[in-house]
Amino acid sequence: MTEKLLSDRELLERCRELEEHYEVVRGRIQDAARKAGRTPEEITLLAATKTVPVEVINHGIALGITHIGENRVQELCSKFEALHLNDCHCQFIGHLQTNKVRQLAGKVEMIQSVGSLKLAQEISKVFSARGERMDILIEVNIGREENKSGVLPENLESLLVQIAQLPALDIQGLMAIPPATHELSETKAYFSNMYKKFIDIGAKKLDNVNMNFLSMGMSADYAEAIESGANIVRVGSALFGARAYPPRMGV
Ligand SMILES: *Cc1c(COP(=O)(O)O)cnc(C)c1O
Repeated sequence: MTEKLLSDRELLERCRELEEHYEVVRGRIQDAARKAGRTPEEITLLAATKTVPVEVINHGIALGITHIGENRVQELCSKFEALHLNDCHCQFIGHLQTNKVRQLAGKVEMIQSVGSLKLAQEISKVFSARGERMDILIEVNIGREENKSGVLPENLESLLVQIAQLPALDIQGLMAIPPATHELSETKAYFSNMYKKFIDIGAKKLDNVNMNFLSMGMSADYAEAIESGANIVRVGSALFGARAYPPRMGV
């Protein structure tokens, strides 16, 4: 596992770095929430823990991190037994192949990245067979990017209606990863667009469709996401430091 590559000294250093970063991130979340007329308690900070050694994740949980998200099935499985999840919720946030759904059983409480009927059907099949249910968010390809997963905005409602009929799934909201850009104003426009969909769909009161969570915003833009209406932010590098290899988000 990754942590074997780090010396005790490096691990200690990363834990100390996390302590500082966690305070900064919490402060910014509080400010953004207040600015948006909301309370900080309404916002869930989900730590995106890909490539982060288990020891560092567990230190984060001891500090008070209540939600973590992994985005590769294999990495989640290799870390899982060592994670201290008694006081922490574990979710899946990455691209999910249908043949790997089974491996998530007993490990995650929500799958944030469901962007197709085929994937939803497989999740429903796997969890009904176990007599269980699974919370999901629908991933929206809000920037209409060709290489990104997620449903196109114009197909969102019909997908929701179809998925709502599957037996073992509880739709809890929406998730998005807007196109990478250095223009925060562009990103904010995508966030606002997502928030509008989140509210509009909620108002339609579709059967078996709950709009409890809007998951958007990462290290570069979580404050803006909160100001735009997100109530889950997925923060990786702003907590844990830069990753050794680049993220492959949503692809
Ligand atoms: C890695 C990842 C994040 C966090 O990215 P940072 O920019 O490091 O905060 C959020 N969401 C998903 C789906 C990710 O894969």
